[in-house]
Amino acid sequence: MIILKNKAELVIMRDAGKIAALAREVGGEMAKPGVTTGAIDTKIRQTIMSHGATPSFLGYGGFPGSACVSVNEQVIHGIPSDRVLKEGDIVKIDVGAFYKGFHSDCAATFAVGKVSSEAEKLISVTKESFFKGIAKAVPDARLGDISAAVQAYVEENGFSVVREYVGHGVGRDLHEDPSLPNFGTAGRGVRLRSGMTLALEPMVNAGVYDVKVLSDKWTVVTADGKLSAHYENTFAVTDNGAVILTALA
Ligand code: MG
Repeated sequence: MIILKNKAELVIMRDAGKIAALAREVGGEMAKPGVTTGAIDTKIRQTIMSHGATPSFLGYGGFPGSACVSVNEQVIHGIPSDRVLKEGDIVKIDVGAFYKGFHSDCAATFAVGKVSSEAEKLISVTKESFFKGIAKAVPDARLGDISAAVQAYVEENGFSVVREYVGHGVGRDLHEDPSLPNFGTAGRGVRLRSGMTLALEPMVNAGVYDVKVLSDKWTVVTADGKLSAHYENTFAVTDNGAVILTALA
């Protein structure tokens, strides 16, 4: 069931979103050679809690971190650890904040020092594909319009979109209906309504779209070991189009 949010609820979700966006930014600023993924996670947890929120991911399904921190061929759900980032890595930071009864969810990919030109392109195409998608998020459009726009842009640029993991509704639960794939057919799927709150999160691979889960039961990696990038925001569908909730200001 898709739960529409009223104006008052959207105000709270915007506040929750600001906290998650700040945590993402703080984490991204730490993405430098020599820093551990665990140190980034600690700083993110402190940032979220200092704003009166709690990390949505901590303990979710038993997840041990406050953020998912995934490096290079790791797509999503990387467990923060004593792994040290090095020059040329790309790091995905995915973070959620739970505030006054509502979740927010966002992610981005950061370059650690100087990265390859392919990595740079992958990061920017992934982010841009998100904006191609939400440009379609107007009332009476279909969910598939968003999905198709993301997929087309990614594939035009020679990359692939992950099939096994998708975006989702967000609200009182971290994952609500509907699922929001990064691939699909325009004109198909649920009709968008003002008050829907969704996380669109393109996961884009440099090589094949296939992924597998490591023996830690969390970390999702590309099947071919090539790089992957991720970008996500929670947004609301409004009469004026998509409004990003996980934004700093
Ligand atoms: Mg998400």
